[in-house]
Formats: sequence, C-alpha cells, structure tokens
Amino acid sequence: MTTPDLAVREAAAASPTLEVLAERARSCTACPELVATRTHVVPGAVPEGVRLLVLGEAPGAQEDESGLPFVGKSGRLLDQLLGEVGVSRAQVGVLNTLKCRPPGNRPPTRLETRNCRGWTERQLALAAPQVVVALGLSATRWFLGPTSLAAVRGRLHEQGGYRVLPTYHPSAAIRFGPEGEPRRLLREDLALAAEVSS
Ligand code: SF4
Repeated sequence: MTTPDLAVREAAAASPTLEVLAERARSCTACPELVATRTHVVPGAVPEGVRLLVLGEAPGAQEDESGLPFVGKSGRLLDQLLGEVGVSRAQVGVLNTLKCRPPGNRPPTRLETRNCRGWTERQLALAAPQVVVALGLSATRWFLGPTSLAAVRGRLHEQGGYRVLPTYHPSAAIRFGPEGEPRRLLREDLALAAEVSS
C-alpha cells in the first residue's frame, strides 16, 4: 500500500522543475487535518539560479492566507536583516519544511513532517543552493537530527550534500526584542551565509 509520505516522494521525484513541483504540492492531501484547516498550500519561492536558501518550519497565518512564504512579521524582519547584510529577498530561496499551516500554529507532528519531507528534499535538489540557512530548531533538526541550537548554531555543517548553517528563527529574534542576542546572532549568521554563498 502506498503511504502518504511515499506518494509525496513519488510525486516530487516526478516533478522536473520547481514550478511543476509547486503546482503538485498545492493539491497535496497527505495530511488530513492540515488539508481541512488550510487556506492555501505554501510551497515556497525559489528564484532561478539561487545560491542562498533559507528553510523555516511551517507557514503562519499570513502565509496561509496569501499562499506566500515569510510575508508576516518574521518575514519582514528576515528581509530587513538580509538587507543589512547586502542581500535582497529576490536573491534568496525561501522554503518551509512543512507546506501547510498547522492549526493555531501548533508544532508539526512527526507524521506531517515525514509526509512533507519529499517535497522539500526535491526542492532542495532542484534548487541546488550553495548554502542553506536553517531557521530555528525545527528546521535544524530536519537536517541534522536530534540536537540543540546551542550545540550547532553559527557554524557550517556538511549534511546530505548541502552546507547547512543553523541559526535562530526570526520569531525568536522578535520575541527577545531588537537588543536581544537572537537578533544579533541571526544577523551575524546571515552575514556569514551571504559571504559563503557569494
Ligand atoms: S503539509 Fe505537506 S505533505 Fe502535508 S498536506 Fe501539506 S503539502 Fe501535503
């Protein structure tokens, strides 16, 4: 029997381009609760020839509403910090490990994460970025497995053929305020990612 995660993997593997994959993901029904509660699937945005890609956890309310990734408060801070290190959003690929918003922004379940993995893995393979910035613990664990942000943040890790740079999620930077350490370190890590990917 084909399980939902396997069905996603097959559909993703059969997607020759990011555009085709995004179209297929928009009609994905692998996670029944998310299908019942979502407004839009948010496949992400990856410009042609991208060198730097950021990976978050899951869409929030504004992303679900618009179908676009990182358009809420976190997205605005990400744009600002990228701008401060000399990078525009148009140069950066933006994905989430999960393409549908979990209701009430609850954490994705293990099953949902597993179901959606095939889409994201194929997106990364098609985009082939120089560096992937993993925003927050969830995206970091998606790549590196069980770990803590404190143990791996701010350094490049070779994983699955990618150079992965774990850092804080912009929502943590917002929570701790403009003078907080997460914001300073996120900016520092984005600067490193920009340098390494240029
Ligand atoms: S979260 Fe991913 S696997 Fe689950 S329904 Fe949405 S697109 Fe499909």
